[in-house]
Amino acid sequence: MNLSRPEPVVCELCHGTGWESVEGKGVRQCRCRLNERRAQLLRAAHIPPRYESCSFDNYHPQGTAPSANFLSQAYALRDSKHLVDEYPSIEIGLLFLGPCGVGKTHLASAIIRALVNQKGVSCLFYDFRDLLKEIQDSYNPVSQVSELRVLGPVYDADVLVLDELGASKPTEWVRDTMTQIINTRYNHKKLTVFTSNYLDDPSTPGDESLIDRVGMRLRSRLHEMCKMVVMQGDDYRLKIRGNRGHKF
Ligand code: ADP
Repeated sequence: MNLSRPEPVVCELCHGTGWESVEGKGVRQCRCRLNERRAQLLRAAHIPPRYESCSFDNYHPQGTAPSANFLSQAYALRDSKHLVDEYPSIEIGLLFLGPCGVGKTHLASAIIRALVNQKGVSCLFYDFRDLLKEIQDSYNPVSQVSELRVLGPVYDADVLVLDELGASKPTEWVRDTMTQIINTRYNHKKLTVFTSNYLDDPSTPGDESLIDRVGMRLRSRLHEMCKMVVMQGDDYRLKIRGNRGHKF
């Protein structure tokens, strides 16, 4: 049995110095450090494991071109790529609106991945329901404040994804907390990407709207800080399950 320790892996380009030489140009930060930094940023972004591999390349608009469903998804993909290409010279984020399974979270996660890989931007993903729960859990009844441990990164991230906006029961506390988070990011000119299953103008009578879930004021703030991207289509998960067939 060989008990010797494995040799440490030393980068062939910089030999561990962190700087690689470029012929005729001098030195630049080595690719190995950039890769390390990207890996750190991706870990810190906390994309849920289910969405870790989501990218623009593996998002395929569904439906037949040029149906309304297909176009809405193709435009959503185009808007997502545009945000990444233009960052940081872009002032408004995106709010993906649409039914379950059309790929809203897929695209929001792909935006994070692309921003990290192409631009080295610090990003953070949060399901809004989890965020509210973490804030509640960190609430200190003595000082009556929620720990900045939870909110600090939410305020500081250059780009924040807030998934499932409006999914929590809209109590007064939920609305106040949502407003505080969204306003703070707005005031600091930080880009935020939202997803929500609640449409601005639902076509089925009786369905709740975005206003019902987040309130009039927050909805108008969202319009100021985001481009609305309405997505239509069938639930991709059901389609995949259907294609696999049922085994009994
Ligand atoms: P939503 O957030 O709109 O409810 P998701 O982004 O969670 O939908 O999509 C559900 C699953 O289907 C995810 O695994 C996602 O990667 C996949 N998916 C959805 N739409 C597409 C698409 N057009 N191309 C490839 N994968 C898709």
